[in-house]
Amino acid sequence: MAALVDDLMQIREENPFESMMSRFDHAAQLLRLDPDLYKVLRVPNREISIYIPVFMDDGRIEVFTGFRVQHNFARGPAKGGIRYAPDVTLDEVRALAAWMTWKCAVVNIPFGGAKGGVICDPSQMSQAELERLTRRYTAELIDFIGPERDVPAPDMNTNEQTMAWIMDTYSMHARHTVTAVVTGKPVDLSGSRGRREATGRGLLYVISEAVKKLGLKIPETRVVIQGSGNVGGTAARLMYETGYRVVGLSDIHGGIYNSKGIDVPEALNHLSKSKSLEKYQNAEPVSNHELLELDCEVLIPAATENQITSHNADKIKCRILAEGANGPTTAAADDILERKGVFVIPDILANAGGVTCSYFEWVQDRMGYFWKEELVNERLQDIMVASFNDVCKYAESHNVNMRIAAYMLAIDRVAYITRVRGIYA
Ligand code: NAD
Repeated sequence: MAALVDDLMQIREENPFESMMSRFDHAAQLLRLDPDLYKVLRVPNREISIYIPVFMDDGRIEVFTGFRVQHNFARGPAKGGIRYAPDVTLDEVRALAAWMTWKCAVVNIPFGGAKGGVICDPSQMSQAELERLTRRYTAELIDFIGPERDVPAPDMNTNEQTMAWIMDTYSMHARHTVTAVVTGKPVDLSGSRGRREATGRGLLYVISEAVKKLGLKIPETRVVIQGSGNVGGTAARLMYETGYRVVGLSDIHGGIYNSKGIDVPEALNHLSKSKSLEKYQNAEPVSNHELLELDCEVLIPAATENQITSHNADKIKCRILAEGANGPTTAAADDILERKGVFVIPDILANAGGVTCSYFEWVQDRMGYFWKEELVNERLQDIMVASFNDVCKYAESHNVNMRIAAYMLAIDRVAYITRVRGIYA
């Protein structure tokens, strides 16, 4: 019985929607949010569930389930990625959509939030099947997406090619090319320079501000990164190039550790050749579990949700936790980290570099004029540093931690616009 209760508590703790809502409720309470606005902001604007019939290569028809949750449009078109995964749920997509609303508001870009998901296993599907799935999913959503309505982007298991198919399908229906309907497109297909690296680069900018604030020195700052994909791999490389000592790195199969510092380009080269960090020679192996508990100044969880929970938060040793992934820390773990004095740069701030650069891509598409990479990075740095400082000031003036400050700032901005626009009746 006790074991069953424990399991149920853990399932609850790890439900991303509950995690998001508990922070939302806490921030709304501290803000003394008007009860009517609270009712409006705690629910998504629209949830779409669709069944997607697809011809498989062997001639069978398979019917997939897909979602698009459009959480909020108050500040502009909804914005958010599309995730393909066998275990994606509506609750997860709902949480991710809300996080997008708060994230866009934290960095003050004129977007609301949305997220999409399709229950499928891309590793078991051919490119042709993925293309048919993507085009039919887009066709089902044709009245709900668009540059002024909802602008999808890549997320787990979707990429530049997926975005190119969505852009083409949408354009075929519109009867003209509409590049601004998605972001994260290939650069030669009206994508933005710097987009691929933007989330990792944004992390570098906010971490460097936190390092300065805490009086740490870059060469003595040991960094551990969970995940070596788009976010973790890029952050690892940029942190290494900036002079940080990256001592731990992992992928889904496990991690590597070297107290003197890992040669990140060499390790990433090994990863791209052998598809795993296992057997990398110049570091010792550690499990993903051990990696999170390594001695370091900066820990960057950049893989997936629920990595730091009430079960391991007490063992985390970093001074700065910079959340590259969405929702890597549960709400129950927040309290433990706060007691330990860990400086948390929450996901809705730390990984906002990606959506900020997506905003640049949308702007460039609408102008039909494309910026140099230096200009993209300079504007990204301006927004990330200003947002970090906004959240720090908010935390200090309201005497709350960085996560709650980021939620309060975001909710305040969305609530203000909602109040000014009024409720259409
Ligand atoms: P990715 O697929 O490129 O990389 C994920 C990495 O995490 C890989 O190295 C993978 O091996 C590892 N991994 C996956 N599951 C793991 C597990 N259970 N334990 C340990 N390692 C695991 O994905 P990404 O684009 O780098 O995204 C990572 C996270 O960052 C996700 O939460 C995503 O929502 C979030 N995020 C991504 C972006 C972006 O621009 N790509 C922007 C904001 C937030």
